[in-house]
Amino acid sequence: MYYSDDEWVKLISTLIVNPVLPRNFTVDPSLLKNPEFKKLYDYLMDMRSLSSALSRGDLQHFVYGKGFILSNLKALQSNLRHLTWQTKKVADGDFSQRVDFLGEFSDAFNEMTVKLHDLTMRLTQLANMDTLTKIPNRRALEAFLVDSFKNAVGNKKPFSIIIFDIDFFKSTNDTYGHDAGDAVLVQVSGRLNRQFRAHDIFSRYGGDEFMAVLPGTSLRAAEKIAERARASVEEAEIPLNANDSIKVTVSAGISERLENDIRYEDVIKKSDRALYVAKKTGRNRVCCG
Ligand code: GH3
Ligand code: MG
Repeated sequence: MYYSDDEWVKLISTLIVNPVLPRNFTVDPSLLKNPEFKKLYDYLMDMRSLSSALSRGDLQHFVYGKGFILSNLKALQSNLRHLTWQTKKVADGDFSQRVDFLGEFSDAFNEMTVKLHDLTMRLTQLANMDTLTKIPNRRALEAFLVDSFKNAVGNKKPFSIIIFDIDFFKSTNDTYGHDAGDAVLVQVSGRLNRQFRAHDIFSRYGGDEFMAVLPGTSLRAAEKIAERARASVEEAEIPLNANDSIKVTVSAGISERLENDIRYEDVIKKSDRALYVAKKTGRNRVCCG
């Protein structure tokens, strides 16, 4: 069969341009016997099928052809597949993912992951912080207790817990009001907090009670720290407002993990009992359990 120049142009343009091939579209089989034409025809059919798969969001579609246009389409397809993988990682909480192959989209994606990271950090911080005193709350304390106790048992390391409780705090509230009570909680927790190291936790245990967990610290060393902390509160003038200040004291109970303490709650109980003794024997003192 003979094709005029116009018919050639029409055939090629149909293959490239038409979104859907006409119903009656056929290519003369004898033409397909021509290897050069067959190569061009297969290439154009691959282009049609790959570009239409991409437009449908089908990222698995495979064609054999390479060359300039198909290679570019395949690069886009593989980038989109990688992006899909990266997005799944982000969904799993990996906000370190960055994209650098999709122009403006890369900037938007990277901004999103940076913001997700910052927001998650902020939320985690808020979830673990006591709103009044800005020190770790009970939730953060419990997570720390679980990890540090396991570690101390596993590595046969000392492990001590100090519980502080403000003396006669109810009467501070009653005499000066709840806001003054809040100011005392902030000031006292700030002073006590200064005695602890980065690998300890000093937290609000509840009400006017604070708990310090000291991994790697023996009872005797913890007692010295608790005594310094107690003295730092005793010597302070706690400002209530621009004109008034008061003095308060704290009592503390300390204990250390011993061989038969198999749960951190066992150590807490001993510290609690020691605190009770401190309260019963005059307050403003540190007792060991
Ligand atoms: P003790 O020496 O035996 O410890 O006597 P206490 O008066 O301190 O008694 P207790 O520890 O039982 O009192 C705790 C008080 O702390 C009771 C509660 O009203 C008050 N409190 C708990 N949380 C807050 C708070 O966030 N702000 C204020 N202002 N008061 C609080
Ligand atoms: Mg108290």
